Amino acid sequence: MRPAVFLDRDGTLIEERGYICSFEQVSLFPFVPEALRHLRAAGFCVVLVTNQSSVARGICSVEQVKTLHNRLLDVLENQGVCIDAVYWCPFHPRGKVAEFAVESHLRKPAPGMLFQAAADLELDLSRSLMIGDKYTDLAAGAAAGCHTALVRTGYGAKTELALAAGELKPDLVADDLLEAISRWLDQKTAWA
Ligand SMILES: [Mg+2]
Repeated sequence: MRPAVFLDRDGTLIEERGYICSFEQVSLFPFVPEALRHLRAAGFCVVLVTNQSSVARGICSVEQVKTLHNRLLDVLENQGVCIDAVYWCPFHPRGKVAEFAVESHLRKPAPGMLFQAAADLELDLSRSLMIGDKYTDLAAGAAAGCHTALVRTGYGAKTELALAAGELKPDLVADDLLEAISRWLDQKTAWA
């Protein structure tokens, strides 16, 4: 079984801009292709795991979210990197669209998307890393038995302050995805 790096989307791979429905609203952080190339070279499976309650809230359609993700993968592929899989959660218990207005084991901080990916892709969660900018990312990673990294992009700087008072301590805190991945790759005892 190989290790994975699970990536949050908004605030981690792309600028945090609230609920976005189209690729035209996406601003990919410039360091992402290089960061993902390092991961691929080290043999990691790369998996996007993202909450998109915009669907439950009636802001975006399922098709819009899928199209946005396909465009994002295309842009990365054109820069020589591929993401192995995308898992996204459209649900939110207080949504407006009845079909999606439910609690879900897939919605971070629950670890459902990570468990699903591990089953589908035969991943070793204990040697894997979840990277994100929110408490919910770290909680999902920890609940799945993964290592965790907080990035200071997106909501990350605020999350870092809030974490100081709590019990959840990420394995890494880095300025951005590239730094998080570089430092993770240096910690070979955690994943090699
Ligand atoms: Mg985020």
